[in-house]
Amino acid sequence: MRRRPGIEVKSVDQVRLMRVAGLIVGRTLAAVRDAARVGITTTELDQVAREHIAAAGATSSFLGYGGGFGLPPFPAVTCISVNEEIVHGIPGDRVLADGDLVSVDFGVSKDGWHGDSAITFGIGDLSPQAVALSETTRTAMWAGIAAARIGARIGDIAHAVESSVKASKAGYGIVAEYTGHGIGSEMHQPPDVPNLGRPGRGELVVKGMCLAIEPMVTAGSAITATLEDEWTVVTRDGSPAAHWEHTVALTPAGAWVLTAEDGGEAELAARGVKFGPLGD
Ligand code: MG
Ligand code: MG
Repeated sequence: MRRRPGIEVKSVDQVRLMRVAGLIVGRTLAAVRDAARVGITTTELDQVAREHIAAAGATSSFLGYGGGFGLPPFPAVTCISVNEEIVHGIPGDRVLADGDLVSVDFGVSKDGWHGDSAITFGIGDLSPQAVALSETTRTAMWAGIAAARIGARIGDIAHAVESSVKASKAGYGIVAEYTGHGIGSEMHQPPDVPNLGRPGRGELVVKGMCLAIEPMVTAGSAITATLEDEWTVVTRDGSPAAHWEHTVALTPAGAWVLTAEDGGEAELAARGVKFGPLGD
């Protein structure tokens, strides 16, 4: 089977190093969520993440990113995207308010290996509509992870994400311009992992592949626009968006969710899928 050049297949030892990075990412995101409250600025939340990076002896995967691609170098260690912002929001002076829907995307490298994850949560009292949007996105991420098994195709993952969102029958949009990706010695590697697709298509999922699976779902149209800062991606119709992401390693035992504290065991068991740790 022809394989697109550039897919990095990891050894068992390399996956273990990626687990170290993944846990730093997962624990930092939990700390950022815990710190989030009415009245805090997004820069203050970014600072929480910066402190965790320093304490862990890790390196931000985001800070300075994009400079080599003709974009202004990303100036923070988190992307914080609020309400109609979908992804790539730049932390700043914005004060978070009751009812805000906040997505935080975060990545680090440790000893040269990257982890990448995103969570969505509410500030204060979140509307039932926003709760449902985030929960649908989170569920779609896990559906994609559950479909990511050795011998599957990338299209199977994409289709699982898409089908899960559509099963909500809420008329949500699925963002197509931004995708999940391979991850390893760089944050973004081939293959792309789309959030819409047909089963049986695309790259073969092989042992040692590591993928970031990350649906971005909107309450209205999925048409996007980019703000003048050249980073922040918003819904053009102003509808709110959610973003969830985990980094997953495909091991002979099953899927190992490197950025989840429990490695994905609970969510995968609930879906009857083999959980594949290599051991911490
Ligand atoms: Mg990310
Ligand atoms: Mg990513």
